[in-house]
Amino acid sequence: METRPTVGIAGLGRMGHPIAVNILDSGFPTVVWNRTRDKSADLLERGAVWAENPAAIAVATDIVLTSLADPAAVESVYFGPDGLLDRARSGTILVDLSTGSPALARRIAAAAGERGATFLDAPVAGSIKAATEGQLGIMVGGDRAAFDRCEAVFSAIGKAAFYLGESGSGATMKLVSNAILATIVQALAEGVALGEKAGLDPADIFTVLGTSSAAAPVVAAKAAAVAERAYLPAAFTLALMQKDLWLVLGLAN
Ligand code: NAP
Repeated sequence: METRPTVGIAGLGRMGHPIAVNILDSGFPTVVWNRTRDKSADLLERGAVWAENPAAIAVATDIVLTSLADPAAVESVYFGPDGLLDRARSGTILVDLSTGSPALARRIAAAAGERGATFLDAPVAGSIKAATEGQLGIMVGGDRAAFDRCEAVFSAIGKAAFYLGESGSGATMKLVSNAILATIVQALAEGVALGEKAGLDPADIFTVLGTSSAAAPVVAAKAAAVAERAYLPAAFTLALMQKDLWLVLGLAN
């Protein structure tokens, strides 16, 4: 019988938590850590094991997923005291699902390689709904063999995993995607504000846009929130998109 790898998850935020639920539900022995321990309570009830720090996850697991806010958080969880790279073992695969910096991805990959471990930058497309339904798109850079070894894990959390090339390629693709997404959402906000101020009903604006060449999944997804002025809680915070746009500018520079 196939032995399932033990999977570690560091970062149980809006994305990391539902990802951890899907890993558990797919039958992987699961070890979790989060800076704020409370967010792990229901996962521990469902059978996940708590690790005291990221290093303890690296010791106990074969594949480690991280889902963290920003490059500073990634830096601290990988390179900090009791970080993942402190104890990553030969053969361990470290997979960062966060949207981050291609340069940092290459630096982590090099540091992991010195320890015999492998690092994949693997940011995701899709928000909390896709994470909950195991329907994320996963954009992966790094070692091809490690990508292949993660197939079952990627299947548990996503609908498609794309191998894009060397370290940093996944992070780069995600920045391309969010540069486009942010531009569409900003244009949508400007257009709707213009239409409303000139007397149109926002519901009508979205109905017509849906039949036009400006139709897009993200436009349809925003219709109800705009019509009802119901923006909270945000699935993807403005702070995170702003972080991504700084990363886009960094890449472009
Ligand atoms: P979130 O809900 O804000 O969660 C952020 C996670 O990072 C939490 O686990 C948080 O720990 C942890 N964290 C923050 N600073 C830290 C630090 N200095 N040290 C250790 N841990 C730290 O964010 P999210 O929405 O899940 O997003 C996670 C990543 O996925 C981000 O890179 C985001 O850009 C990307 N993403 C998000 C979405 C979305 O729709 N939300 C979609 C695609 C990609 P605490 O619980 O202790 O605060």
